[in-house]
Amino acid sequence: MSNYRFKSVSEASGRKPVKVQLPDERVDRFYGRQVFNRRKMLEYLPKATYDALVDAIDNRRPLSLEVADSVAEGIKRWAIDNGARHYTHWFHPLTGSTAEKHDAFAEHDGKGGMVEKFSGKLLVQQEPDASSFPNGGIRNTFEARGYSAWDISSPAFIVGNTLCIPTVFISYTGESLDYKTPLLRSLNSLDRAATRVVKFFNPDVKHVTCNLGWEQEYFLVDEALYDARPDLVMTGRTLTGHDSAKNQQLEDHYFGSIPARVEAFMLDLEHQAHLLGIPVKTRHNEVAPNQFELAPIYEEANLANDHNLLLMSVMEEVARRHNFRVLLHEKPFAGVNGSGKHNNWSLSSDLGDLLFAPGKTSIENLRFVTFIANVMSAVHRHNGLLKASIINATNAHRLGANEAPPAIISMFLGSQLSDVLKSIEETDTTEIRVEGKEKMTLGLPQIPELMFDNTDRNRTSPFAFTGNRFEYRAVGSSANNASALIALNAAVAHQLNRFADIIDKRVKDGEPVEKAILEEVRRLIVEAKPIHFDGNGYSDEWKEEAARRGLDTETSAPLMYDIYMHPENVEMFEKTGVLSRKEIAARNEVKWEMYTKKVQIESRVLGDMAINHIIPAAVRYESVLLDNVYKVNQLFSKEKAETIAAQDKTNIENIAGHVSVIKASVDEMVEQRKKANRIESEREKAIAYHDNVLPLMEKIRYHVDKLELMVDNEIWPLPKYRELLFIR
Ligand code: ADP
Ligand code: MG
Repeated sequence: MSNYRFKSVSEASGRKPVKVQLPDERVDRFYGRQVFNRRKMLEYLPKATYDALVDAIDNRRPLSLEVADSVAEGIKRWAIDNGARHYTHWFHPLTGSTAEKHDAFAEHDGKGGMVEKFSGKLLVQQEPDASSFPNGGIRNTFEARGYSAWDISSPAFIVGNTLCIPTVFISYTGESLDYKTPLLRSLNSLDRAATRVVKFFNPDVKHVTCNLGWEQEYFLVDEALYDARPDLVMTGRTLTGHDSAKNQQLEDHYFGSIPARVEAFMLDLEHQAHLLGIPVKTRHNEVAPNQFELAPIYEEANLANDHNLLLMSVMEEVARRHNFRVLLHEKPFAGVNGSGKHNNWSLSSDLGDLLFAPGKTSIENLRFVTFIANVMSAVHRHNGLLKASIINATNAHRLGANEAPPAIISMFLGSQLSDVLKSIEETDTTEIRVEGKEKMTLGLPQIPELMFDNTDRNRTSPFAFTGNRFEYRAVGSSANNASALIALNAAVAHQLNRFADIIDKRVKDGEPVEKAILEEVRRLIVEAKPIHFDGNGYSDEWKEEAARRGLDTETSAPLMYDIYMHPENVEMFEKTGVLSRKEIAARNEVKWEMYTKKVQIESRVLGDMAINHIIPAAVRYESVLLDNVYKVNQLFSKEKAETIAAQDKTNIENIAGHVSVIKASVDEMVEQRKKANRIESEREKAIAYHDNVLPLMEKIRYHVDKLELMVDNEIWPLPKYRELLFIR
């Protein structure tokens, strides 16, 4: 029998917070110490190289190999000065995590020794033997090799003794095999399209940047308890477990005081993040017990996303130091809140304006509503796609559960913005008088600065306007944000281009630009209305209402992926240059394959737990009861024995009943897996896992959780929710 309980309780209760060695220095002294940022570039690169590199980064120009060689020499010196001995191209394969292969800086010196060496060629491009990364058939069909190439817009950094160089990962025929490539393409496309539209209002704008502030939610569990749960170890979530008597009902965890052990972990994590130049700022308890959140100051989206991925791996490492395990899974525990990664998403011009923020003048406010209306339209047109971009086997457990956003994308605008849009919709265009820029009346209510109050919130909305940005909340806590951003950016870029085309044409036909814009904005507001929903997204009525409005209400993840191949989405991705049809098709193959594998692993683990952990424990307890009934019958008269042993007899029958359903269901689940595994098509296979394997997992869990309530606590072989969820 596993004696986890004795091990963990003594360890956990006797466990003092790990002492964190924080530097005596102020944050400005150590922030970014492990990053090859501009300050290090100035120090380690010749002036001409520095200028060329900064010019390439700022103006998005290619770098010559000569400059790259010089950069490589400088980076190498800096890395070695800071303890690095190896380097790696760090990339984001479609597995969702990050990948790295380390090489030492060492080369033969020709005299039997070694020298530390690093060239521009090695910095700029590599050919990782990547045949085992998911590629949806692209490499098999087209080209056997893939290569990684330096993304100069994201600075290199040191983790441990390895210099990490952020890279894209592409096939030799140029198809993306990662998340970063299409993310960068989507950012470029959005920059171009948004700049076209901003220029109607301010011709001086040259670039528009997309910003991302992610809020990372996560759970912590005690390591000893984690180790005693095969499901947590193998799948990152509990596959069984009855509700704890107390969980989040009292709402006493949210923003509550942080336990000392957890605080020590957070301090350590924040310090590590700051060394890596990740600007983490906010931390607090989340709604569920043992659930927490960490958020940075927002940054340019590509950099912010690299930082999020890096942070996730740092979190896992730091958690272990503190005898915790971090759970990034979207739904580690049934019945309590799941974890998301709210993507605070905004656009800003190179003049510093936030394009989703109201301004002081009419023209600024017209710009504001123009961008809002275009985002509404993009989210409306592509709502099904946006949902498909955030769904996967793990996030599927969170969406649609009653305390999470439903599996429907809608937009929350809040009462103030809703009023503004309503008044635009109801204003007659003939009221527009244009009397020179400053005195122009556009029939728009004057929107004073900071009018949009952050308290106007709706936590049930998957996509909410929050004053100067949108908060895309449906993104999963374990996800690479890029998947969501690729779809969102491409959809918005596509819509902004359509908008600019229409305005260009109307202006060419002789209309005043403001009039054309206002009319087109009004048209978009009316057309995109079905996406706007400020009510309770968790209610059943909303599901019906959303279906009536024509929003996508599909709940099966494998079926959601189909929408990527719908003609309007293929056109959108191709026109914006974000993904080709071939890439979309390949990515879908990967999605289905990943879905299948995740469910397959969970199903196997659950089967093993049921047969090797649960049933033996239940049978052992059943035999204790049988023994008792037998002895009672020996000692007492028949009538008396009947009453004394009545409850035990009922329990024996109930236990036996649950055990036999579990056994039969595990057998059936194995059969269903075998059947599904014989299916050739990745899509059909994923559907079979969704339709035929998942329901059996639910069924098995139901009966296991019933047994948990009946079987002697001493015998129960798995840590329970009440133990897992409360850090002492
Ligand atoms: P809340 O939980 O109230 O939504 P948090 O403070 O936890 O807010 O997180 C807000 C996140 O949004 C932070 O990462 C913050 O930097 C980011 N953010 C704030 N303003 C913007 C903006 N204009 N664009 C993108 N992200 C933003
Ligand atoms: Mg938030």
